[in-house]
Amino acid sequence: MLRVENLSKNFPVEFDIFGKPKRFLKAVQDVSFQVEKGSVFSIVGESGSGKSTIARILSGIYNPSSGKIYYEGKILKDAKRIKDIQIVFQDPETSLNPRKTISFIVEEGLLVHRSASRFERKKIVRDAIKSVGLTSDILKKYPHQLSGGQKQRVAIARSLVLKPKLLILDEPTSALDVSVQAQILNLLMELKELYNLTYILITHDLKIVNHLSDQVMVLYLGQIMEMGRCDSIIENPFHPYTKSLIESIP
Ligand code: ADP
Ligand code: MG
Repeated sequence: MLRVENLSKNFPVEFDIFGKPKRFLKAVQDVSFQVEKGSVFSIVGESGSGKSTIARILSGIYNPSSGKIYYEGKILKDAKRIKDIQIVFQDPETSLNPRKTISFIVEEGLLVHRSASRFERKKIVRDAIKSVGLTSDILKKYPHQLSGGQKQRVAIARSLVLKPKLLILDEPTSALDVSVQAQILNLLMELKELYNLTYILITHDLKIVNHLSDQVMVLYLGQIMEMGRCDSIIENPFHPYTKSLIESIP
């Protein structure tokens, strides 16, 4: 479904007096992987290892410095956002506009892509809200009136209205209370079945990976340490970094 070839991203971190970048941070270095349709592909690695940068490139927020991305066999051009690939961010606190109603927030993606009439849009929004386990009275509320879990449900609903095929989940539960984390993960797995979704699941929690993923890619300082079937890597880690990750599972 998705093939990533030799993806790299450098961020300028130091500039000369003319404003020309003189030093770069290699956030992602020569990363290649494939995601099979219908699977859960996990990206793990400690903070700063380049996970979110990969997510942002795949969802068209950043341009890669180099490398190619193929979606269903066709090359994805730089920073082109496609409806089929949507992202759910880590923290609904910052990803939901505090000045907009839930109704507006969930509908926004549909407006950007001009994909439905006003009447159809309202129905799609109501259906999405229902499918994430919320009731429609939430639509006229503002983000601050919602709990953390409800906010993340709204963020998921917002990504669902465009009927994506590939959902990128960037640490979808790490900003939430432990008791709410399991609820959101269960919801995500239900939605995956219901809508035939494929997931790229980003996390630093190997416990979650172990439960949910088919393939796992371990990143360290922007590079792939190892990659393969989740069960075999957890049972028999090759790299010392992966071993230390596994040992850190409580
Ligand atoms: P992770 O999601 O694994 O914690 P990130 O992809 O967010 O890691 O970050 C990888 C590296 O790139 C970090 O060193 C981070 O500071 C740096 N970085 C991320 N985004 C930017 C940016 N927009 N500008 C400069 N550096 C960035
Ligand atoms: Mg991140």
